[in-house]
Order: sequence, then C-alpha cells, then structure tokens
Amino acid sequence: MSETTETIFSKIIRREIPADIVYEDELAIAFKDVHPQAPVHILVIPKQPIKSLVDITSGDRDLMSHLLLTAQQVAINAGLNNGYRLVINTGNDGGQTVSHIHLHILGGRQMTWPPG
Ligand code: 5GP
Repeated sequence: MSETTETIFSKIIRREIPADIVYEDELAIAFKDVHPQAPVHILVIPKQPIKSLVDITSGDRDLMSHLLLTAQQVAINAGLNNGYRLVINTGNDGGQTVSHIHLHILGGRQMTWPPG
C-alpha cells in the first residue's frame, strides 16, 4: 500500500476521473467497482481520505456508522434482497490495494466461504 492519502478514489470524489456513482452525500460516495467480482460490486467510501480500518479511532464512530448505513441503503437500492457480502480489506495481508478505506458490497450471486 502507498503511504500517501492521495489515491485514485480522491480523484473519483473530485470527478477528475470517471466512475459510475450510485450514491453521494456530504460524507460518503458509492460507485461501481471497475473490476467487478460479482454481478453487483459497489464500493462505499468516506470523502475523508482515511487510509485503512487500522487508522479508525473512536472519533470516527459516527462516520463509520454512516458508512454502514449507507452500504445498507445502497444494497437495497441495488436490489440485493437475498443478501450480500460486505468486505473491508485491511492492509497488506488483508489484500487492500487502495489506501483509502472502502467497503465492498458484493452480491447477485451465492458467495462462498472461506474467501481466497
Ligand atoms: P481493495 O483491493 O483495496 O480492497 O479494493 C480496491 C478496489 O478498487 C478493487 O476492487 C478495484 O477493482 C477497485 N478500483 C481500483 N481502481 C479503480 C478505479 O479507478 N475505479 C473504480 N471504479 N474502481 C477501482
């Protein structure tokens, strides 16, 4: 992971690169993953460039609640009435490739366990 807080997601927030944005409010934005791993694959991110779940503090409690509730609503809007998987890849071992915290919403097919 890069140490900078400036990522491709910052550019999406600022509309400097295109993305298929499905939701936005003052704190968060949600857009379709460019390499979908399921029929529905949407990323929910805070506009604030927090790098990772590791960097979350108790001061981020309201923001994290907001992200979870946003993910819930985005999943409903995407028609995921039969369930979905919510994933936060964290750090190198977690498979995180973009250093801006993000929630993956994956759905539209049966998920398997354990993940790879
Ligand atoms: P991570 O591996 O960090 O958990 O997830 C990063 C995700 O961001 C990946 O699923 C990847 O496909 C997605 N991604 C990377 N760059 C872009 C981009 O420019 N646009 C969009 N929409 N998704 C991206």
